[in-house]
Amino acid sequence: MSSTPRLIDGDDPRILLVCDHASNAVPAGLDLGVPAEALSQHVAWDIGAEAVSRTVAATLACRAWLASVSRLVVDCNRPPEQAIPQHSDGIPISGNANLSATDTAARLALHHAFHDGLARQIQLRPPQLLVSIHSFTPALASAPAPRPWPIAILWNQDYRATEYALAALEAEPDLGGPIGANEPYSGQILNYTMDRHAEAIGLPYLGFEIRQDLIANAPGVARWSAIVARTIRATQEGLCSAS
Ligand SMILES: [Zn+2]
Repeated sequence: MSSTPRLIDGDDPRILLVCDHASNAVPAGLDLGVPAEALSQHVAWDIGAEAVSRTVAATLACRAWLASVSRLVVDCNRPPEQAIPQHSDGIPISGNANLSATDTAARLALHHAFHDGLARQIQLRPPQLLVSIHSFTPALASAPAPRPWPIAILWNQDYRATEYALAALEAEPDLGGPIGANEPYSGQILNYTMDRHAEAIGLPYLGFEIRQDLIANAPGVARWSAIVARTIRATQEGLCSAS
């Protein structure tokens, strides 16, 4: 499998989706030194996030930019100097310890390819709204307090789009739990991709987090993709009416 980020093309330039943690792929020949089962778990990728991104992109006829390697290889939602994790949720990643300069450069080349390609998409056909799609585990092994939110919006400083999205989610019936606002962690602590490609240029954005158990099968993906698509549409309308 190629390590090149993937573009899902779409006719409508107004929305651009980003999925930093779409893939659990590890390039051939690279041994991360983690148990095989870890590669199917949240430590390696955002379970269900690629499927939601693809479904929302199809619904809205918009583009989606998807990472093609596991975040255990390189984490595109971290600054480069923190992008090669040494451990994740209590699992040491021995294959990332003591990397040579050559190996470090090869990993960071994947990070650069993701971000340079995303910047190119924004430049080629400037969107009105950048939307990131993530999923989160219902409980961390290292911090097992339950995370009750089915869906959440994360932001750092720019609240323009978030305000409309939270209102739209409040209007959805039967979400099954409280809507997370900067949960299960704050965008004011970690918001790298949105900070770099949206906040830095004044582009409105939404950072979705969806609990992974809700989008681990096709009916769940269909249900939550529809909710995300409606929330994006309502946010677009709100931003348009405000401008
Ligand atoms: Zn993620």
